[in-house]
Amino acid sequence: MANLIKQPGPESRFDRQVRFSPLGPDGQKCLADASVFILGAGALGGVLAQAFVRSGVGRLVIVDRDSVEWSNLPRQILFEDKHAESATLKALAAKASLDRMGGPTIVEAHAAHVDAENIKQLSQGCDLLMDGSDNMETRYLLNDLAVQQDTPWVYAGVVGSSGLVLPILPGAGPCLRCLFPEPPLSGSLETCDTAGVLMPAVGAVASLAAGVGLRLLANPTSMTPRLIEVDAWHGESRSLKVPRNQDCPTCGKAQFPFLEAPITERTLTMCGRDSVQVRGRGAGIDLAQIAQRLTPITSDVQVTGPMLRTNLDGYRVTLFQDGRALIEGTQDKGKALAIYDRFLA
Ligand SMILES: [Zn+2]
Repeated sequence: MANLIKQPGPESRFDRQVRFSPLGPDGQKCLADASVFILGAGALGGVLAQAFVRSGVGRLVIVDRDSVEWSNLPRQILFEDKHAESATLKALAAKASLDRMGGPTIVEAHAAHVDAENIKQLSQGCDLLMDGSDNMETRYLLNDLAVQQDTPWVYAGVVGSSGLVLPILPGAGPCLRCLFPEPPLSGSLETCDTAGVLMPAVGAVASLAAGVGLRLLANPTSMTPRLIEVDAWHGESRSLKVPRNQDCPTCGKAQFPFLEAPITERTLTMCGRDSVQVRGRGAGIDLAQIAQRLTPITSDVQVTGPMLRTNLDGYRVTLFQDGRALIEGTQDKGKALAIYDRFLA
């Protein structure tokens, strides 16, 4: 008798989320028609990508410059041991994992360092930009692009057990530079590479960001953007209204310096040497403080006068008092910037 009862088929895939009335069939149609850009396929990016693919967005573009490392596996949900063993490019491993989930989403993955020169092309045609990055430099770039093109984006950041989410609706609320007017001084912020990070914090922050992102696609006018703060260790959360700054250089004065600064202005290949120089953002960095942050991840940190010397990811790195760094052992500007932004920015 039991085998005469017809089980629901693939047409029932999105039944439970369509039953959620604020989304409904109309919202689901919006998702199916949408293209989403995710910058980063790691911790935040992995949870974001899974949320959008499982929810049935039409097209997902995901970009990451790194390859999978063993230390990624506790929180980067698209990757497995085999990817770390073979140091698979995260973009490729992510696409394979996302394609295995099935469903209607077309996943486009790019193994690339996103910068001012390629971000417009990579994100072309996308209705929503999602932050799965691990550094502020990239977020200011996303913010410039989003405000210039009038595309909504969702800022998400996580360190330790807590993080922040801010939906940014150009013209209808604050942008990232209304909240943080200037990039932090080099070495002044904790990062996951220095302070560590927990999987539940990644899950909480990325899930909140994904929820906000889905709502922006389904019903953008229904939202008043607020800054959400959540801590997955202490079990606390709060949300704050962030005022828009009329004098904001980005959304107030339409200046887009991060989008207009080509990669060549941040880096210089040293002639005849296997090294790249990365420019800093001015004087005043605290080398002793940076040395302290780096100590847990590399046993080899020395500060001598106005210079810090260390080894990061197998490259010899010299950081100067003015924020400039020399990365030895590569001529790849993207790789040098990746090291700088992860450990020193
Ligand atoms: Zn602004």
